[in-house]
Amino acid sequence: MMKTLIITGASRGIGAATARLAAENGYAVAVNYNRNQAAALSVVEDIHSAGGTAEAICADISTEKGVLHLFSETDRLLQGQLAGLVNNAGILETQMRLEDMDIKRLERIFTANITGQFLCAREAVKRMSTRHGGSGGSIVNVSSLAAKTGAPNEYLDYAASKAALDALTIGLSKEVAAEGIRVNGVRPAFIYTDIHADGGEPGRVDRIKESIPMKRGGTPQEVAEAIVWLLSDKASYTTGSFIDLAGGR
Ligand code: NAP
Repeated sequence: MMKTLIITGASRGIGAATARLAAENGYAVAVNYNRNQAAALSVVEDIHSAGGTAEAICADISTEKGVLHLFSETDRLLQGQLAGLVNNAGILETQMRLEDMDIKRLERIFTANITGQFLCAREAVKRMSTRHGGSGGSIVNVSSLAAKTGAPNEYLDYAASKAALDALTIGLSKEVAAEGIRVNGVRPAFIYTDIHADGGEPGRVDRIKESIPMKRGGTPQEVAEAIVWLLSDKASYTTGSFIDLAGGR
């Protein structure tokens, strides 16, 4: 039976690269998306063309209803034992200082970047923990280097949400370590994806790259490689750990 893997926000960017690589590594992949169905279907089509197994599942992970739908649809469509979750979906909003942030923005960021990840981790633990009759598994939380820098003048809210995700990684890794589940995080930064356009600066990586020790931005594939390694049995003694993918920053 194939191992089933849920990747939230897999219609583009880091999530899409991780979905393709995980499928190459033998996972049956639930390619979650929120709005961009065409992009998610194109990821699934690429996986099918390469001989892999995947299903696109529309669900807004910032709502409990969406999270429950994502997991029940994965159970129904992919049927194998859930072996992993990549908590990848995340949003940022236009760069601004704290005094200009209104409550609606803070609620959107914290719900999409913290609450949704807690709910997805909860549903994954219910299926994977040996305490609940599961066979164990692996969770990878996609954080950000911003959790350590705080992202001043740009997005303190986003940085704080990623710091919360890091706390989830540390605490949950200990809570479920004896139940066959490993929980780790990656902290990318300066990766060439469309998220920077959402922050109001599509060319952000190129603006910053001279200040990065490696003098370049990263690719979604480079982040996917770390995520798939953490998911795999090759990382079998690694839990509560983080891999920074930030060119030396
Ligand atoms: P991206 O290109 O903007 O892709 C975001 C993905 O998340 C899309 O597939 C989007 O789906 C999905 N998504 C957003 N809100 C969702 C929701 N409520 N429910 C379900 N799916 C949702 O982003 P990315 O750059 O690949 O980033 C992926 C992760 O890496 C994020 O957590 C981000 O914070 C983190 N990260 C990225 C960078 C970077 O430099 N790119 C750096 C540090 C951390 P739809 O388009 O279908 O709505």
